[in-house]
Amino acid sequence: MINKVVVARAPGRVNLIGEHTDYNEGFTLPLAIERYTTVQLQRLPLDSNASRFHSVALGQSAWWTPDGKSFLSAATTLSSEPSAPATANDSAPPWSKYVAGVIHQFAKLGLSIPPFELSIETDVPLGGGVSSSAALEVAVAMAMQQLLVTHLDGLAIAQLCQRAEHEYAGVPCGLMDQLSSVFGRTNELMLMDCRTNQLEFIPASSELAFIVINSRVKHNLADGEYRQRRQQCEAACRLLNVASLRDIDVSRLEAAQSKLPEVVYRRARHVVSENARTVQAAECLKAGQWEQVGQLMNASHTSMREDYEITCPEIDTLVALAQEIRVDGGVYGARMTGGGFGGCIVILGKATHADAIAEQVVTAYRAATGIQADTFTTRPAAGAWELCSNV
Ligand code: ADP
Ligand code: MG
Repeated sequence: MINKVVVARAPGRVNLIGEHTDYNEGFTLPLAIERYTTVQLQRLPLDSNASRFHSVALGQSAWWTPDGKSFLSAATTLSSEPSAPATANDSAPPWSKYVAGVIHQFAKLGLSIPPFELSIETDVPLGGGVSSSAALEVAVAMAMQQLLVTHLDGLAIAQLCQRAEHEYAGVPCGLMDQLSSVFGRTNELMLMDCRTNQLEFIPASSELAFIVINSRVKHNLADGEYRQRRQQCEAACRLLNVASLRDIDVSRLEAAQSKLPEVVYRRARHVVSENARTVQAAECLKAGQWEQVGQLMNASHTSMREDYEITCPEIDTLVALAQEIRVDGGVYGARMTGGGFGGCIVILGKATHADAIAEQVVTAYRAATGIQADTFTTRPAAGAWELCSNV
């Protein structure tokens, strides 16, 4: 029998500026990173009763059946058989829902899904704010297209993955992560208009480095707080009588301050001012004004800390240590990146100084907190791709 083997690879992303703006129909300025999730998919005989997923990073396997039952085994190889009876989908391991969610979306398109095994490898840090979840979803979706001999355009793939994350993983995310992973381009950032989903590609000078430092801290309140921020933004829109926070600017918001409870006002001020900063940062990037981009990143971090309240002490320490280095030491600006309450920071730095900057911040962070941070430096990377061969 000819067996189809598919390999698909999708990058994580780092958001330079424009945080919590995507679900407010605003602007973001991410880049895909040189860190990828790779999946290898191989068909199983048609009479196999389940598909198997294996995550190398977690050393776990899950078995999945199209009727929605899936269960976890601690097996570390793909060839091991399930060691426990199937249980309801509710008890499936959380990570397997990202995979099953994507497959269900293809099934919803009316496509019949043959049994297969899927092995997942990644060097994107999990839960670090650089979007391992979208990298996983997009890689699985690209592989499924090959398996099912179907083709969706890039926007449809990103939206399918977003629906999977909403409906199966229970995370009400915006579309930035999936769009970045699909559409990333080497050496270019993407200014995303999250109302129209239009992308403007902006070249990143080779003089720039994007230094990512993972705080190795993740506070559990992230999910609940994310939902609450979304609800507060919706409340602000109702009280301001606008369709989305995209529709107002800072002066109009200030004029309407008395209509909003104090906390809701600050949440709205973050989003509205962040949209303005993001558009301006894109302009400055095009004009080669790196220092201004850095200042906008610093202001973004202050806004996330004071108004949106999504940072945490460890992240604030990391950002302060990076900002202290200043332009003389090669740092234009620094901010937390991603949903918040831990995860990674991104530093816009001079490429010639990248290693020294990373070492200095990591050493000072260890001295301040006792935590050994992970770090990598990246240039904007190409988006997802897949390869198919018959063996
Ligand atoms: P981020 O997307 O910033 O990394 P999320 O909390 O959105 O953080 O997604 C992280 C989750 O995605 C992990 O906890 C896990 O459930 C799932 N995930 C991502 N990559 C993998 C992988 N390679 N193997 C298994 N699960 C993964
Ligand atoms: Mg994610």
